[in-house]
Amino acid sequence: QSADAYPRTRYLVSCDTRQIVIAEEVHHLLDWMVRYYRAPIGEAVKLALPPGVLNEKEIQFALSPNGKTFAESEAGGIVLAQLLGGPLTRKEWQLKAKTEIKLEDIRFWEDQGYLFIQSRDREKESIPHVTVVVVTEAGRAVDPTELGRAYKQIELLRWLRVRETHFARIPEIYAVFGSASPLLNQLEKKGFIERKRIPKYELLGDDAETTADAVHTLTEEQGAAFEEITAGLDLARFCSFLLFGVTGAGKTEIYLRAIQHCLENGRQALFLVPEIALTPLMHRRIRDRFGERLAILHSAVGMSQRSEAWANVLAGKVDVVLGARSGVFAPLPRLGLVIVDEEHDQSYKQNDGIRYHARDLALVRGKMAEAVVVLGSATPSLESWQNHRRGRHHLLTLTKRATKAKLPEVEILDMRGEFKAQRKRPLLSRRLQAAIGETLKSGNQVMILLNRRGYHNFLLCRKCGHVEMCSQCEVCLTFHRTDERLHCHYCNEIRPVPAACSSCAADGVALQFFGEGTQQIEAHIQELFPDYVVDRMDRDRLSAREAHQKILDKFESRQTDILVGTQMIAKGHDFPNVTLVGIVNADQGLRIPDFRSAETVFQLLTQVAGRSGRGKNPGRVVIQTYMPEHYCIRFAADHDFLAFLKKELTYREHLFYPPFAHMINIMVTHKDDQKAAQAIQWMAAQLNSVKQRADLVVLGPTKAAIGRIKGAWRYQIVLKSGDRASLHGFADQVVETCVARGLIERPAVTFDIDPYQF
Ligand code: ADP
Ligand code: ZN
Repeated sequence: QSADAYPRTRYLVSCDTRQIVIAEEVHHLLDWMVRYYRAPIGEAVKLALPPGVLNEKEIQFALSPNGKTFAESEAGGIVLAQLLGGPLTRKEWQLKAKTEIKLEDIRFWEDQGYLFIQSRDREKESIPHVTVVVVTEAGRAVDPTELGRAYKQIELLRWLRVRETHFARIPEIYAVFGSASPLLNQLEKKGFIERKRIPKYELLGDDAETTADAVHTLTEEQGAAFEEITAGLDLARFCSFLLFGVTGAGKTEIYLRAIQHCLENGRQALFLVPEIALTPLMHRRIRDRFGERLAILHSAVGMSQRSEAWANVLAGKVDVVLGARSGVFAPLPRLGLVIVDEEHDQSYKQNDGIRYHARDLALVRGKMAEAVVVLGSATPSLESWQNHRRGRHHLLTLTKRATKAKLPEVEILDMRGEFKAQRKRPLLSRRLQAAIGETLKSGNQVMILLNRRGYHNFLLCRKCGHVEMCSQCEVCLTFHRTDERLHCHYCNEIRPVPAACSSCAADGVALQFFGEGTQQIEAHIQELFPDYVVDRMDRDRLSAREAHQKILDKFESRQTDILVGTQMIAKGHDFPNVTLVGIVNADQGLRIPDFRSAETVFQLLTQVAGRSGRGKNPGRVVIQTYMPEHYCIRFAADHDFLAFLKKELTYREHLFYPPFAHMINIMVTHKDDQKAAQAIQWMAAQLNSVKQRADLVVLGPTKAAIGRIKGAWRYQIVLKSGDRASLHGFADQVVETCVARGLIERPAVTFDIDPYQF
């Protein structure tokens, strides 16, 4: 081994704190990810780095010879990145750092036989924090009479103690006690209270009753599922469960108990949810159960809070980590249980940078850690279901709601009839309007969902419900403003906009590019029901997450009667007074040029319908649609996932899509349109020449759905094959050859393995 060769090492260690910041088990996961997703290691490492531990705005890497940890060196910063194999020379590292590691503003230097790589990380974020007063253990234990004649202090302490949350904001205290500053100082000196900065989002909802989460006696179905998971945990070997339970079946209760059991066995648990900010309730429930042993890794939380949470995890003070997608990289050396709630949710798939799927990584990680993995959903993904059928996941089924509440009655409303009757573009059917009126009169709440997933412009005939489709691909065509034509994103078929509906020959008046806004609906409903409070929640409106939680809070505390929103309102909320859910444009998502569109719409309809009738009063759902016969809408109305699944699987198998085919999307992006086009054409030709031998289906090349981003042109080829290994092999091969021939440079090509967006 030559003197300037820098070998592979196992840990990433902070020189400041002398602590490992990326632990060995996470390295294994990163290794796997880099290989599987063909990703640069530097980007992978960044995903797993704790925030704030880093020297503020800088990330520094150094490579050590002889595998010693760098804590022995004098130089500061973060050290010892385990990088792409080794040993390598300095020159090779430099090259790798530029092309594969892809760190920005890289600088190299050597010190005491170590090679440093430093790069600037410009990311910086902050979220509002508030100061709260918290009662300490001592403050809770003390007998107030011990404070003698300090009556004001006693009063304040008592007041704080009766609050369920055991904390209060300063303005609240001032409102009750006047200028309380000296009182607070005295109590703090005695160690009975503490002033603490917490992210504002943690406050929200805490004033609302938090007692809802009594520990329930499990229902029979819950008990059976829980026992199987427990048995798995006790074996301390990898195994995976698919927990398929209707909305309201009480999956959360099972998760919480499984975590409890896992901790009792001396191991740690990782709990992934699609979006933490969307489910403050879940958040609270877990916090109530596990308190100090829980860390929440949440990208919306400010730097300092986040790094504190991470520090606790790294220091081993924490046994349960709750996180979204990137939580899968949390360092948990004794990991025994991984839960992926709403495993079907597409937000687990990262759609830029390294396009990993957190559910898949969770399984890989579970396997590496010999842990139990539980994938939970009311509408499992077809991939997971297929894995169950292949014997990879054990299936656990919950068919009934835990509270004995019935699943809501669902009514499908044919909007083609409404179009004829109202003679204008109807936003709300008369039926839904009436239902809203009745619900409000009976003192209950209403949710109105506007499906805006994949907000595309597609051409819909309002008379017959027909949508212009591609002749080759079973997907609808998308209207491109640039050339005013209809395009297929899979095969690049291009058609002019027809003058009349190609199905029922209705003239152009009936043809419309679809897309209505939540704002419009909100205004319309407010106009119809002027005596009630209408609120709206969608991405456009939410500058801060705070606003978001406030909206949910107001709805929960019944200050709002009607909540209008996009799919954000569908997720996991538990509002017992909602007895009507209206879905304005159920089929919107069906026109997305995506083979998963029916699955996605089914999931959404089921989720949002599941918000209705969770309390004492029975729920009702009205689905407005121009495609009332569509199987996805019919089966969602019947709460019949299995029937949907059967149909959808047949279709996927027939058209050779996942879970029957494996897919890769190869994308070429370049500022020079010609260059990008040339490279992708060349690759397509190569792939086409081997496709028989390699059992490949080559779709494209086409311009990407978004043909140009930040000035770079984007072209893609989508590959399908039944054999994953050979598919990946051929994709690599053709890209390598293309690069070797100088047709394009490596960074201009990216892979999306198991893609979700096209
Ligand atoms: P899911 O996540 O399956 O949709 P949740 O876990 O949110 O369902 O549970 C729905 C409701 O049922 C919650 O209000 C919860 O408190 C309640 N619940 C859960 N388990 C039980 C049980 N065994 N008995 C009574 N209520 C229960
Ligand atoms: Zn097509």
